Amino acid sequence: MRRMGLEDRYPNLHVSGHPLVAHKLSLLRDKGTDPKQFRELVRELSWLIGYEAMADLSTQPRPIETPLEAMDGLRVEPKVGLIPVLRAGLGMVEAVLELMPSAEVWHIGLYRDERTLKPVEYYNKLPDAATVQVCLILDPMLATGGSSAATVDILKAWGAARIKQVSLIAAPEGIATLSGTHPDVDIHVAAVDRELNERGYIVPGLGDAGDRQFGTFAGPASEPGHAHDETAEVVRRLQRNLRTP
Ligand code: URA
Repeated sequence: MRRMGLEDRYPNLHVSGHPLVAHKLSLLRDKGTDPKQFRELVRELSWLIGYEAMADLSTQPRPIETPLEAMDGLRVEPKVGLIPVLRAGLGMVEAVLELMPSAEVWHIGLYRDERTLKPVEYYNKLPDAATVQVCLILDPMLATGGSSAATVDILKAWGAARIKQVSLIAAPEGIATLSGTHPDVDIHVAAVDRELNERGYIVPGLGDAGDRQFGTFAGPASEPGHAHDETAEVVRRLQRNLRTP
């Protein structure tokens, strides 16, 4: 009998099964991959996962004329907004804009308090009413799920009709947090990893996706082995929640 997997438990979770995705993700994880190649891989993977995430966008007939005759073509119906989670999500924007050039890009600034792992909002210039119907939250790493759940809160209050999370790697803890608070949000990822470590990093993961894209390896967030007690407690609580559905 097939074991119940995360995709059975969370019908909103979509893990890519594409071999090209698996191949590129392995290169991305490799610690020998330098920032230039890392950025290229983030871009290629974002293209592939973004493509899968938009597979169910509704379309409308659009009359066109080919050089030979008139026919009914199709056009994508909803307006799409991209919301990169700063800063690591920035590297995903260009790729998804290539797929959907008319998408609007809205920035919401949330930083993750390194001790409590809670999201803190510092930038939000959304206009009063939603200007798009479908929002794609772009964040390479769905770790605790706290920033994503807070971003979804903001986007729902804004009036977005449909919200999807597009990530490269997710932790089970992050999937549980986001799906628990917002089960209507589809989660599209290249892979689901084992767990969060006591510092809130996804393992095996790929390290800090922001540092690896932008070559910023000197900050305290990049120093290995410096877990705060508070951070470790938050991770333990998330892991307990995961075991008791
Ligand atoms: N953010 C990252 O960049 N990496 C992780 O593993 C978790 C959060």
